[in-house]
Amino acid sequence: MDVYTPRTLEALLDRISAYPEAAFMTGGTDILVALRSGRLNPKALICLERIEELQMVEDKPDEVFIGAGVTHARILQSSLIREHVPLLREAVRHLGSPQIRNMGTLGGNIVTASPAGDALPPLYALNAWVEIRGAAGTRRVRIDEFIQGPGVTALRPGEIVAGAALPKHEPWDIVHFEKAGKRKALAIAVASLAALVRLSDSGTISDVRLAWGSLGPTIVSSENVEQTLRGKRLTVDALQTAAALARETVSPISDVRAGAGYRRALAGNLLLRLARYSGGAGPRLSSEGA
Ligand SMILES: Cc1cc2nc3c(=O)[nH]c(=O)nc-3n(C[C@H](O)[C@H](O)[C@H](O)COP(=O)(O)OP(=O)(O)OC[C@H]3O[C@@H](n4cnc5c(N)ncnc54)[C@H](O)[C@@H]3O)c2cc1C
Repeated sequence: MDVYTPRTLEALLDRISAYPEAAFMTGGTDILVALRSGRLNPKALICLERIEELQMVEDKPDEVFIGAGVTHARILQSSLIREHVPLLREAVRHLGSPQIRNMGTLGGNIVTASPAGDALPPLYALNAWVEIRGAAGTRRVRIDEFIQGPGVTALRPGEIVAGAALPKHEPWDIVHFEKAGKRKALAIAVASLAALVRLSDSGTISDVRLAWGSLGPTIVSSENVEQTLRGKRLTVDALQTAAALARETVSPISDVRAGAGYRRALAGNLLLRLARYSGGAGPRLSSEGA
């Protein structure tokens, strides 16, 4: 296999035109597993990790732009991300181990397009855009249109992900991410929930964004569940109603990590956790399907 390590986007585009069938690698934490197992056997591998243009975390007037080559460890270190998009930071804290966070990148997590990708629920909740570069130029696609199925994206041959644009919002009152796995660390999500909640002066929910991981072929978000909560107080009763709807909305599979019924129960239970922010009695967790 020929391996190339271009240092600029211009040099990258040159390599892509010479090797249109090449595979891309950034941190290698996903693709090296596929190469080693023989699942993938490209004639050429183009490594993106030395391209400086993909390494930026940029403060723009309306968005934070995170280059595809930014590692999860750098996401955790960035004061800009902490200030404007703390939900992403919260999720990345739960991703892999320090070694994986030092090598793995946001771009790799997006293109792997696993329903269990920990960086993805925040990108859905934040309505992020994926920026794509290729010989034909630059285009942006919303994250929920970019990811089309497990491992399937809107990338065309010869295109790479340049980064993700995360719109800035007024601060949210509740920024919450929880991942349920087989153990507390270094575990792939059995189910996860990213949640953003804004409360009005009178204490009702004025806006809410929810995105579940590992509960469908892609990240699940539901306008219906969010709508059920808008205008309500953050009470256990309101959350129970929304949780029942969430359990109907998700479409989990059974695999080595958990059964579909257990995952469906978790979809609601993860939502009930938001009751901890209400100051009221703790949530009643469903054990249905467990
Ligand atoms: C032990 C272990 C634990 C893990 N734990 C977790 C976890 O808890 N949560 C989680 O979400 N993930 C986990 N992962 C998966 C992985 O670490 C992440 O998905 C990581 O973000 C991948 O980034 P990378 O840069 O290493 O991707 P790579 O392996 O370099 O690439 C992954 C895929 O994306 C493509 N690609 C990479 N960058 C680009 C780009 N800029 N443009 C176009 N295509 C690109 C590659 O061709 C490949 O198909 C784990 C992996 C391992 C080995």
